[in-house]
Amino acid sequence: MKFDSSKVRSVHLEITDKCNASCPMCPRTDHGGPLNPFINQNEITLEKAKSIFDTTFLKQINFLQLCGNFGDPIVAKDTLEIFEYFRSVNPKISLGMHTNGSARPPDWWRRMGQILSRPGDYCKFALDGLEDTNHIYRRNTQWNKIMQSAQSFIDAGGIAHWEFLVFKHNQHQIEEARKMSVELGFKEFFVKKTSRFYNYKTGLNEPYPIYNEKSETIGFLEAPAEQKLVNSVSATKSDSSAETISCVECPSILENQIYISSRGEVFPCCFIAGEPFYSYHGPESQHLRKLFSDGNTAIDQIIASDTRSIFTVIDGPLFKEIENNFKNEESPIQSCQRICRKDFKIVKAEYQ
Ligand code: SF4
Ligand code: SF4
Repeated sequence: MKFDSSKVRSVHLEITDKCNASCPMCPRTDHGGPLNPFINQNEITLEKAKSIFDTTFLKQINFLQLCGNFGDPIVAKDTLEIFEYFRSVNPKISLGMHTNGSARPPDWWRRMGQILSRPGDYCKFALDGLEDTNHIYRRNTQWNKIMQSAQSFIDAGGIAHWEFLVFKHNQHQIEEARKMSVELGFKEFFVKKTSRFYNYKTGLNEPYPIYNEKSETIGFLEAPAEQKLVNSVSATKSDSSAETISCVECPSILENQIYISSRGEVFPCCFIAGEPFYSYHGPESQHLRKLFSDGNTAIDQIIASDTRSIFTVIDGPLFKEIENNFKNEESPIQSCQRICRKDFKIVKAEYQ
């Protein structure tokens, strides 16, 4: 299994690390409370996008989605213009976007609907319940605003998907939401079973605390009571799931995809991008943190620009080190072991 820049066909791009919401399980905040100190309010402008994505690379890409670890693409200044630019360079590219939908006026959404209107395109609205429940997880979002955004997008021809993250507090609303999605003109409806209740140390799903700005616990998110709505892998306590090492199968290599952060750093995936500085702060992330601070594998060396192409980064030393680490039993990269071990596909199970 090897990374090869000429084979990449799919890009996951974090256009900004800014967001209007504060969802407790998102690493942009500490359990919905204080902002993650590593977040720098980064953003990829149209000008920066042109310097990161050289046209040869863009022409070989089949699919590009805007999502990310820490931000929502509707908050970025040039999202529409960047999509238009990608399509002007590669008219066949399929485009996708993931959002909470609670920002931007109807005109902006109409324009987005015109762009994301071809087969293979989509805008996935994260709607975790209905009017009385969505804001419990998507904190700081407004239902009426989201409905206005979705309707403007759909009326303009946009292909809308509804993604319903299921919890104990909204599990009774799945069928009503599914029906509503059809009435509103959404083309797809997904139920997502989060893996984030899983505690890797205990091997158990546990209630997830919600913090206020002072880091005081103000409540808990709970997994659905109905077993069939719980992430099936996280629900199965596995001796191998906690700390032992297992064989890794890298989806980024198998599916020819890469991740680009809002600083323009090129990584194999969003998990590695988030690991050492954001998601896991403990000593278990030592190996990757060391790689990111060493000379030729340093994090600044993987920022794509006019002078350092995406091809160069993918075929360069950091990707090689990550690839070599798949079998490293002494100092494994935590993301690879937690997310992509053959016997514990916890993220894949979110949609099963
Ligand atoms: S909407 Fe997305 S980026 Fe924003 S806080 Fe929620 S999960 Fe994070
Ligand atoms: S976490 Fe590791 S194995 Fe999984 S996609 Fe990323 S690089 Fe590949």
